[in-house]
Amino acid sequence: MTKRSDTGDTACAYRRTGADPVRDISRLTTLTDREKEVLLLLGTGLGNRQLARELGIAERTVKAHVARIVEKLQQETRLQVAVLSVLAHELLCADPRCACGSTAPLPSGLVGASAV
Ligand SMILES: [Zn+2]
Repeated sequence: MTKRSDTGDTACAYRRTGADPVRDISRLTTLTDREKEVLLLLGTGLGNRQLARELGIAERTVKAHVARIVEKLQQETRLQVAVLSVLAHELLCADPRCACGSTAPLPSGLVGASAV
């Protein structure tokens, strides 16, 4: 495997791969309410067995939901879907006490050097 530094390619990984999670979030409108519920849970990183317990459904049903969500959001893996879930947390969340709606900025140390 070639190291990035060897190729001199400094392009951002998102730009190199064409990944655009923000664009993909627009496809959330194609999901049913139940699929949105599953999607929100996927963002927590839980496995199918735990998701099944949380949702009160069979593990095979969870797998079917996940497969359908991956397809509808035009992703390739459940991990990509989980990334979208985290980005869309505020859109998916119905809990008024959840901190997802807070506008607290990221700790300044996390902001990239090129950020303005
Ligand atoms: Zn929330």
